[in-house]
Amino acid sequence: MRILVVGGGCGGTILANNLARRLASEIRNRKVRITMLSASDKHMYQPGLLYVAFGQMMPDELYRDQESLLEPCIDFHVDPVEEFYLDQNKVKTKSGKTHEYDTLVTATGSRIVPEEVPGLIEGSETFYSEASAVKMFKRLREFEGGKVAIVVGVPHKCPIAPVEITFALHDYFKARGIRDKVHIKYHYPIGRIHTIENVAIWAKPEFDRIGVEYETLCTPSMGMN
Ligand SMILES: Cc1cc2nc3c(=O)[nH]c(=O)nc-3n(C[C@H](O)[C@H](O)[C@H](O)COP(=O)(O)OP(=O)(O)OC[C@H]3O[C@@H](n4cnc5c(N)ncnc54)[C@H](O)[C@@H]3O)c2cc1C
Repeated sequence: MRILVVGGGCGGTILANNLARRLASEIRNRKVRITMLSASDKHMYQPGLLYVAFGQMMPDELYRDQESLLEPCIDFHVDPVEEFYLDQNKVKTKSGKTHEYDTLVTATGSRIVPEEVPGLIEGSETFYSEASAVKMFKRLREFEGGKVAIVVGVPHKCPIAPVEITFALHDYFKARGIRDKVHIKYHYPIGRIHTIENVAIWAKPEFDRIGVEYETLCTPSMGMN
């Protein structure tokens, strides 16, 4: 059996390694072959971007060599897939190669597309990519006080990130001695402050305690002050 894993992020790596361990004897007997195709030879630890946004980690610290994370029996190639031929059980890659499979795993991740909301890129900061986290840190470093609005849509990448960033902003401004000059307001689109009920129940009194204002059932729209 030929198993093809497309994408070498957390999802693809965990799955491919798990399969390689569980099917070790089949792989040794050449009954199973696992191939991974990815777009990069590096693996980024995305949760670390939160620390980059506050200058607590350098971007370089988030990267590992992808091949070093894989079981040695996994055949790894940096060659992104450009075409999926699902009816023919094959993919075509950027280099022009064709890979046939019996089982396909797609783990190509997701990315935010702020460019779809006019003004969002110019008027806001995010921490969902290396470039945006570095940009956010530069902006925060220059910030001397004012209003900070945390605005989230659902679904959002990383369940806990909106709450985490709110506490991190509070701690950051406190450490810089400017917390009393900053008004932090958190906005969430459903009728409580987090999708996970227990998180919402826990976080609400914590927000009250640290002086974070919140508004729920609140969807971002342009022209909002
Ligand atoms: C700031 C932040 C904090 C987070 N905190 C948490 C947390 O606390 N807990 C938690 O569970 N999750 C957290 N997450 C989410 C978690 O990091 C992601 O859900 C996870 O990394 C996604 O893994 P993935 O494999 O699906 O995608 P990715 O890691 O994005 O990997 C996608 C892979 O696919 C490859 N690829 C893309 N296109 C192609 C192609 N055409 N062909 C071949 N390969 C391709 C890429 O090179 C990459 O290797 C956080 C995320 C962020 C940004």
